[in-house]
Amino acid sequence: MGQSSEKRFNRGSAEERSPDIASVLEIEDPVDVRASAPGRVEFIGNHTDYNGGWVMGATIDRRVEVALRRQSDRQVRLRSEADVPTVEVDLNRIERQSGTEGWANYVLGMINVLRSEGLELPVGFELRVGSTLPVGAGLSSSAALELASGVAMSEAYGGKFELGELARLAQRAENEFVGVPCGLLDQAVVALGGADRLVRLDARTEEIDSVPFPPETKIWIFRTHQAHALSEGGYQERHDESRAVREELRSLLGMKEVEHLVDVPPARLEQLREQLPETLYRRARHVTTEHRRVQRMVQLLEAGEREEAGTLLFESHASSRADYENSTEALDFVVDQLREQGGVLGARLTGAGFGGAVMAWTRTGYGKAQAQEVVQAYAERFGAELEMLACQPAPGVGVVGR
Ligand code: ADP
Ligand code: MG
Repeated sequence: MGQSSEKRFNRGSAEERSPDIASVLEIEDPVDVRASAPGRVEFIGNHTDYNGGWVMGATIDRRVEVALRRQSDRQVRLRSEADVPTVEVDLNRIERQSGTEGWANYVLGMINVLRSEGLELPVGFELRVGSTLPVGAGLSSSAALELASGVAMSEAYGGKFELGELARLAQRAENEFVGVPCGLLDQAVVALGGADRLVRLDARTEEIDSVPFPPETKIWIFRTHQAHALSEGGYQERHDESRAVREELRSLLGMKEVEHLVDVPPARLEQLREQLPETLYRRARHVTTEHRRVQRMVQLLEAGEREEAGTLLFESHASSRADYENSTEALDFVVDQLREQGGVLGARLTGAGFGGAVMAWTRTGYGKAQAQEVVQAYAERFGAELEMLACQPAPGVGVVGR
């Protein structure tokens, strides 16, 4: 999503819309249920998911909140505080929306998947959406909208869904109804993340589990606002290159040894270096080492070794930068600035790359003044604004009121 449409969603500055507010929505009327879901950030595991590897994410304390009220008729009315039109559909005719009404598809898709799993909706409902989460920023407002809506509907109509199941249903809604071929990470983190933990996904088995988030540490997100359009072409290219090198490795090592690219140990890859095109070799080196960095990260966090865990974040960035080549001068600059600051445990680009954002993991002593130094240095270097978000892992999706 480009900057102009992104603006439509951002209501007020980050300061004005404090992430701490108990309720995002200011609704006086009685409602049946309110549900709220956090955004998420990719903590480590860059481009590992579609290569069958591990990836880890953290929830953040920016949220999408929905308020649902059942109606006496069969109409579904969807409104958002964002600058998008209200969408009204008949429960008997749920169709995909387009144009500015396309935002409703995330909710309509959830209606479809929940119904297909047996949830009955005898009457329609009105749903209002409020948010403190930047939209289209790689922080998963889409998964937050799906899961907040899903939990609200499930609660209002007597559904019995486990959170892991809801995450899979939300992914299905996004894949099939919205038409975005996303993996499971976003929904898994939004559903199962929490203030004291990170979520780890094994993309091969779709196994999800949690890893302790070290106390007295924080997450900062620095958004460059560099063009998102660029990232889509780059993402596809990396996807294709990953497949190409996997095929090369299959022909060298056999199908059995290379179900996924991450199956090739880095040492084995090194031996085959001369037999691979240089670029593809480097793409494979990133993926196969990154997967192992995620595995190592799990061990280190479980052991409470935060210094070494932080170093892994810097290593992840270096690998994205040199081998996967999905970083930019701006992202590198931000990471290099952070590396010099006290209290920073680690930093790396997060998400697809080719622009987008840097995530820093810091001790709680690291504060706004230090983050502001990075913003200032960025402004001097690039003459552009770097947006800074101070975050804390936050509770996953849940009912927050009635
Ligand atoms: P991301 O998930 O990284 O924020 P996506 O493009 O996957 O970006 O999802 C963003 C889309 O989700 C928006 O274009 C919009 O359709 C929908 N959306 C997210 N938050 C809201 C909101 N508060 N109100 C209406 N639609 C929203
Ligand atoms: Mg999304």
